[in-house]
Amino acid sequence: MSDLLYLDHNATTPIDPLVCDAMLPWLRNEFGNPSSIYGLGRRAAAALTKAREQVATLVGAQPSEIIFNSCGTEATNTAILSALAIDPDKRHVITSTVEHSATIKLCEYLATRGYEITWLPVDAQGKLDVTKLEAAITSETAVVSLLWANNETGILFPVEEIAAITKRKKVPLHLDAVQAAGKVPINLETLGAQYVSLSAHKLYAPKGIGALYLNRKARYTPLLRGSQEETRRGGTQNVASIVAFGKAAELATAALLTAPEHIAALRDRFEQTLLSTIQGVRRNGASEPRLPNTSNLTFSGIEAESALLLFDQEGLCCSAGSACSSGSINPSHVLTAMGVTRDEARASLRFSFGRTTTEEEIDRALEIIPRVVAKLRSAQPVGGSPVQFAA
Ligand SMILES: *Cc1c(COP(=O)(O)O)cnc(C)c1O
Repeated sequence: MSDLLYLDHNATTPIDPLVCDAMLPWLRNEFGNPSSIYGLGRRAAAALTKAREQVATLVGAQPSEIIFNSCGTEATNTAILSALAIDPDKRHVITSTVEHSATIKLCEYLATRGYEITWLPVDAQGKLDVTKLEAAITSETAVVSLLWANNETGILFPVEEIAAITKRKKVPLHLDAVQAAGKVPINLETLGAQYVSLSAHKLYAPKGIGALYLNRKARYTPLLRGSQEETRRGGTQNVASIVAFGKAAELATAALLTAPEHIAALRDRFEQTLLSTIQGVRRNGASEPRLPNTSNLTFSGIEAESALLLFDQEGLCCSAGSACSSGSINPSHVLTAMGVTRDEARASLRFSFGRTTTEEEIDRALEIIPRVVAKLRSAQPVGGSPVQFAA
């Protein structure tokens, strides 16, 4: 097994060593319950206070607006269900066809419970037509829930325009900023969204810790009832992971200020080289504003699933579509929503770079990928011979 070449940072990130160091004392001697009043508990409570400030700073919020929970998925479920519970007469939810499964699966479930769901489409570039959002809002609409940044393509939705519309129409807005946080600047103080989902493991902290931003003026009803988080989310806080999330947020805030161009430069060299050296390669979503670290490419005539297995033999990790329970891969709903055919979607790969990705790693990937694509194309003319896409 060769060295790991990890180009799947949108799936999860390695824990930053500084994050690990920050969290370790809270797994060892500092085991107090933050609700206890003796010193051990008060120290844990103080650690939560600090982490809440660090996370708030990353997204331009006030610390009191950050509610720690178990993951981004919980934040999204809480936000949408809160909006529905507050206004039980309003039974309409607006979302899009390219959301993360946390939103899609909940909305599909809500549809079976008699709620009306509007699935806003995107065009071939992955662009959301905000006039369609405006037109879809009715007096029945309880919440609008949209991605900030797409996990598969990196495309950024126009969140300022979206927030201006929901504000004008007086409808609560939830944004899934799990991929955006730490990759692009976020200022929730000026944005005016009611709910925003965050997750630590996309930010070099552990899995199983997330946060819901709840605008201090927003109405809210909790998903898990209990006394913690000022009764907004019950359950004894995961102190060590919250400390890690805080440290990771602090590091991400600094990285956004000091090195914002680094990853984009790597990504652009990666894409330009592949586009100029392999025939039948197309970028998905590259004409829209997008995250600096994400590259979604279609290699006509290959099976992405086979590519992943060959890449794995060389230590290269990237992703394709979404794995279903059997471990096989469904064509990406994000790409098919953009009008990509199922065959082309099955020939598409997502590479996502991280803070620690080096020029040498890009060089290695640029050696492996053309070789694997050539091998797959000579082995299996399944989708016909490689074609040149129109520009
Ligand atoms: C990873 C991800 C989530 C889910 O976060 P978890 O903490 O894994 O539940 C939600 N939305 C987006 C866009 C993501 O990339």
